[in-house]
Amino acid sequence: MKRILLACISALLLCALGCGRKADTYETALFAMDTYCTIEAYGKGAEAAAASAAGELKRLDALFSIGLPDSDTARINAAGGGPVRMAKDTAALIDTALAVSAETGGAFDISIGPVVRLWGFYDEVQRVPAEDAVRAALSKVDYRRLALDGMYLHTGAGQSLDFGGVAKGYAADRMAEVLTASGAEGALISLGGNVQAVGARPDGAPWRIAVRDPFDEDAVLGVVEAMDCAVVTAGSYQRYFEAEGRRYHHIIDPRTGYPAESGLVSVTVIADSGARADALSTALFVLGPERAAAAWRSAGDFDMILITDRHEIYYSGACFTPLATSIILS
Ligand code: AMP
Ligand code: MG
Repeated sequence: MKRILLACISALLLCALGCGRKADTYETALFAMDTYCTIEAYGKGAEAAAASAAGELKRLDALFSIGLPDSDTARINAAGGGPVRMAKDTAALIDTALAVSAETGGAFDISIGPVVRLWGFYDEVQRVPAEDAVRAALSKVDYRRLALDGMYLHTGAGQSLDFGGVAKGYAADRMAEVLTASGAEGALISLGGNVQAVGARPDGAPWRIAVRDPFDEDAVLGVVEAMDCAVVTAGSYQRYFEAEGRRYHHIIDPRTGYPAESGLVSVTVIADSGARADALSTALFVLGPERAAAAWRSAGDFDMILITDRHEIYYSGACFTPLATSIILS
């Protein structure tokens, strides 16, 4: 009897300890894909899961990095047409990129490489190129000259690829899979402007992701509540240089070869897939508010927040709570 009582007391004690324990959370930070990245995970396997996700990010960074001679990007760009055999991940990333190119009439184009190089965005120092140099580089840009054939890619003469507008989103998708498979109950991945919510917060509520004011780095314009989805922002404030009193940012309009002047300064896309959200955010930035709204209406599988150069905020869906005067799209 005494033994049964003791067993009952210790079972109760264990339950009290277990039930009252705060969920194990673990955070790690690293530099990859040219940006500061954080992974916050919770659940019993949080630490190991976060470490596996960081490993996955490093693996994909090495595969996509334009600067590493053995990366798939560098091998494709050096091959002068191909065909080049790629890793499964590279083929999947290109497949998503080409779908968004077709959907947005080429506003998103991973063959933008020659133009991005000309502006110096791969170098320490950026510069405004000569107009005829822009025209020459632009003649190489056309996603329709890329032919994806299973694991092989053919490119047109002089073409070079740049995965900068989609790689972080693709990596976040794979990291989310790794986190779940390795035992994290929930997680939040942040790769620069790319945030990926895995499950919910430890208290069961959605993750809350702030949308930055593009005109004031310390101010927040609203909050996105997210569960199992990507929240990706493309903004002209994220990377730019100044020359002769003008600002030149890193999102290039593939029709002109110059930084997109579409009337938008920031585009946030909320979608299930990080790769799609990433490519779309860049594409919608190029398209401008009216054409972005048309793309949103015809796709029906994402939400967005547009901030214009006149400080207007347009948004769709119920997951965004604006903190400033905003216009809801319908
Ligand atoms: P994001 O920060 O996702 O908007 O992507 C911007 C990056 O994608 C740039 O730094 C370039 O490397 C690349 N990029 C620029 N313009 C385009 C474009 N129109 N389509 C695809 N990639 C682009
Ligand atoms: Mg992007």
